[in-house]
Amino acid sequence: MERAHRYDVIVVGAGGAGLMAARYAAQHPGVSVAVISKLYPTRSHTGAAQGGVGAALGNISEDSPEWHAFDTVKGGDYLTDQDVAITFAHEVIEAVYDMEHMGLPFSRTPEGKIAQRKFGGHTREHGKAAVERACYAADRTGHMILQTLYQQSIKDNVTFFNEFHVLDVLIEDGEARGVVAYELATGELHTFHAKATVIATGGFGRMFQVTSNAHALTGDLTSIVYRRGIPIEDPEFFQFHPTGLYRIGVLLTEGARGEGGILRNSEGERFMERYAPTIKDLAPRDMVSRAMYLEVREGRGVGPDKDHVLLDLTHIDAAIIEERLPDITEFARIYLGVDPIKEPVPVQPTAHYAMGGIPTTIDTNVILDGASTVVPGLYAAGEVACASLHGANRLGTNSLGDLLVFGRRAGMHAAAYAATASYPELPGAPQERARELIASARAGSGKEKVGRLRKELQRSMMDNASVFRTAQTLEEQVAKVRELKERYRHITVEDAGSQYNTELMEALELGFLLDNAEQLTNAALNRTESRGAHSREDFKERDDANWLKHSLVYKDGDGVRIDYKPVSLGTYEPKPRVY
Ligand SMILES: Cc1cc2nc3c(=O)[nH]c(=O)nc-3n(C[C@H](O)[C@H](O)[C@H](O)COP(=O)(O)OP(=O)(O)OC[C@H]3O[C@@H](n4cnc5c(N)ncnc54)[C@H](O)[C@@H]3O)c2cc1C
Repeated sequence: MERAHRYDVIVVGAGGAGLMAARYAAQHPGVSVAVISKLYPTRSHTGAAQGGVGAALGNISEDSPEWHAFDTVKGGDYLTDQDVAITFAHEVIEAVYDMEHMGLPFSRTPEGKIAQRKFGGHTREHGKAAVERACYAADRTGHMILQTLYQQSIKDNVTFFNEFHVLDVLIEDGEARGVVAYELATGELHTFHAKATVIATGGFGRMFQVTSNAHALTGDLTSIVYRRGIPIEDPEFFQFHPTGLYRIGVLLTEGARGEGGILRNSEGERFMERYAPTIKDLAPRDMVSRAMYLEVREGRGVGPDKDHVLLDLTHIDAAIIEERLPDITEFARIYLGVDPIKEPVPVQPTAHYAMGGIPTTIDTNVILDGASTVVPGLYAAGEVACASLHGANRLGTNSLGDLLVFGRRAGMHAAAYAATASYPELPGAPQERARELIASARAGSGKEKVGRLRKELQRSMMDNASVFRTAQTLEEQVAKVRELKERYRHITVEDAGSQYNTELMEALELGFLLDNAEQLTNAALNRTESRGAHSREDFKERDDANWLKHSLVYKDGDGVRIDYKPVSLGTYEPKPRVY
């Protein structure tokens, strides 16, 4: 018998965005809410976020939401939708106080206010100097957000389906009707019939070899909705965070530079002085990552292979490091055997954040095209979505803010819609596609192995589509992804069991990742300019005349079709980015 459930609002994903959405939907009188998550909620990647959430509270020095909006637009290399950035910069202040009232244990100033520190690209008076805008709870800010929101959701009677893996979103006649999920403990498929569905499933950094992202970040839903005809916006913009632990990619928060940390090359030089004379090590991430690659390329890399640089915290008071950066200090000690208090830490850029995603309006409604045609009943928020707040490059601390502001908006809008809509009709055989997906993963010859294909994907994406790109590397990578997709048809799942069949899940996740790689590489090849995190060595300049527009990548048979959407401008005129 098919397992079936019915809720007014279904939220897929239990990270910061999903829990915020669930909590706010549950505040709506009479609206039933369930969260479906492939992980136990508090294992979501939001829990790994370290440095802070940016909001212009002005607790340390003068600040304003207008400066925050400007920094976000400039940081995004003017691809940011400006109305979204302005709304965000105001609402995030309220959202931080909201979290404080829910009980989030922020670090404090001596007077008892929420403590704030500097972060990359956040400035006062439109770029004059770095400003303390990141509200933090030591270097465990995301952990605290996740725990706080989970407690609140339980209090608000949200129902949780944990370790349920969503395999399909039911979209019929351009309207969302719920989802189908695979229960990991039993191997059963469940149909969730809903009036409103919120997608909040996070990023897809696992397509790269060196990444800060958790294993579960495989872009499942950016693939599932793409297969259902919804485009993906701006997937070519993928952020590399400058300070991943060398070779491992585990993140050392930018908060380390916010507290005074300095990047040095093999000559001991503070090289960021040459690339960003005003804010130096606190330039936006795209610029710092490129500078690190250039230092290495010009022979000033560190170590026997001269392939990385150093993050130097040794001049900072040991007590401050232990108090404000305890977790990352431990990471350096455990993973590299380096004590940041005594010696500089080897670092290299690590794949970190997807600026693009499922396109939405400012109210989180998923849209179908460049004319912003809404898909009724479908919402998206958090890293999986693209509103577009982050444009071509996200500023540090703006993702946690994004989860709070747009997670809340998604919850409120989905609940308001569900309160007036009636249940849409379910398709005749709702589980058909999910069943076929599983069957096809089991049906191959077994000639190809999932682990091997994944490794080839991750390595080639790193070589061909990471910090620097050219037509040649991207053409190579488009072909490589096509080849891997073809070979993927020959995988098989040997575990025939139905309980905790993680082999099956990993096989399906690789299929999703391959779609994400297809979207990213094709959009990157298509965009013949350099903007934000998308840096083309054969088109070094930003080209506003031709490319000040968002990409929309659609699935088209075995390939893609690319369309465009205008950027919402109006307040800040695009200018060259100097820091
Ligand atoms: C190490 C690290 C440090 C960071 N530090 C900061 C920081 O200091 N400040 C900042 O602003 N940003 C930071 N970021 C970025 C930020 O943390 C993330 O972008 C953000 O937490 C994503 O939240 P989310 O709610 O969108 O998704 P996530 O927290 O990733 O949650 C995704 C959820 O979706 C569920 N899911 C996924 N696929 C499925 C499926 N198929 N079926 C069912 N459920 C599914 C998962 O179970 C999970 O619950 C950091 C990121 C990393 C990796």
